[in-house]
Amino acid sequence: MHQPEQVSIREVAPRDGLQNEPPVPTEDKIRLVDALSRTGLARIEAVSFVHPEAVPQMADAAEVWAAVEKHPGIHYSALAPNLKGVQRAVDAGFSAIEVVVSASDTHNRANVGRTAAESIAEFGDIVALAHENLASVEAIIATSFGCPFEGDVEPVRVARIVDAAAEAGVDRIAFGDTTGMGTPRRVNDLLDAVETDLPMLMHFHDTRGTALANLLTAMDRGIVEFDASVGGIGGCPYAPGASGNVATEVVVHMLHDMGVETGIDLDALIDVAALAEQIVGRELESGVLRAGPRTRLTQKPST
Ligand code: ZN
Repeated sequence: MHQPEQVSIREVAPRDGLQNEPPVPTEDKIRLVDALSRTGLARIEAVSFVHPEAVPQMADAAEVWAAVEKHPGIHYSALAPNLKGVQRAVDAGFSAIEVVVSASDTHNRANVGRTAAESIAEFGDIVALAHENLASVEAIIATSFGCPFEGDVEPVRVARIVDAAAEAGVDRIAFGDTTGMGTPRRVNDLLDAVETDLPMLMHFHDTRGTALANLLTAMDRGIVEFDASVGGIGGCPYAPGASGNVATEVVVHMLHDMGVETGIDLDALIDVAALAEQIVGRELESGVLRAGPRTRLTQKPST
């Protein structure tokens, strides 16, 4: 198996995580970002600039961003669904912007109310606006490994979106397993179909328990950038009750023991997972939060 020396993890709990949980107070969001900023993470998806009626969880994005401590070594990013959101993100001073398009039209309509082609048609203007403001643009392709409404998504369809996004001038590509339909076989199929020189990131959900297997498969294929959410927060849209994003501490715990560096302090991260649990107010499923790292010994039963 191919194993890189280092993997780059982007923490998405403040945005993708909290956006899929019941709304929490602004000060808790600020506390979460600030705590994450002290774990050694180099990338944090901080907020999204979406319509407050569509996503009330992110209505205070500008307020949160204004208040958090910005650490010089950390790349903070913001997600925007359209040109208007990108304008708000650059106005707020973000230099890394994510735009999202679904590989399936039904999901794209459910998400942003238009077809995938309509979303992609706006990419050129988005890139122009972002680049004028010295910001990079990442195109996140949601439902890359399957759509909860349409079922399997042909890898060639995803590959065509990658080509269109590259044509529009985006700087990076991310593949989202939005509802946890990916398996190692589908990770391989997708990477067989996609041809691009752009940096690629994978975003896995553990809805059906395949996230770590998918991550290892992608790593074996040379992918070294992954999204994860501390505590695994962020429900699974369209699969109520299912677990969502793969938990950051679960990923970091496994990678470190394999000898793959992340630059993250695992103990500090587990503390933030406990804070995330407090903030969302429900027991989180993260095994590493529940059981602690494998190095944490249990008292031997007395005989
Ligand atoms: Zn997610």
